[in-house]
Amino acid sequence: MEACSLKNSLKIFVDTFHKYSNISGNKDALNRREMKTLLNKEMPHFIKNSKDLKNVSHLFEELDTNQDADVDFKEFAVMIARVVMETHEKMHENAPPGQGHSHGPGLEGPVKGKCGQ
Ligand SMILES: [Zn+2]
Repeated sequence: MEACSLKNSLKIFVDTFHKYSNISGNKDALNRREMKTLLNKEMPHFIKNSKDLKNVSHLFEELDTNQDADVDFKEFAVMIARVVMETHEKMHENAPPGQGHSHGPGLEGPVKGKCGQ
């Protein structure tokens, strides 16, 4: 099984959205409380280290571009894109000096388990 493939990451990304969107109300969108739970449970390090995610209410309003008080999948995908970009930036900030293209741990800290090195 390709546990750490990009393909699998995309599936995890979709499944994670639904794991929380299914909790209550509209099953295809995250309300404010579901979003808060998702961030706290799935991305505690990101919240701590990110300039973008610290203020959950502010983030929620920013992501909810159609202002229906729910973050739908499309709006959620925008957040993930932002997190990926910010993580890459951070990885470079913390990259050990040396030749070539190297990466530090990024926003989430060292990755443990199968997908880590
Ligand atoms: Zn890079």
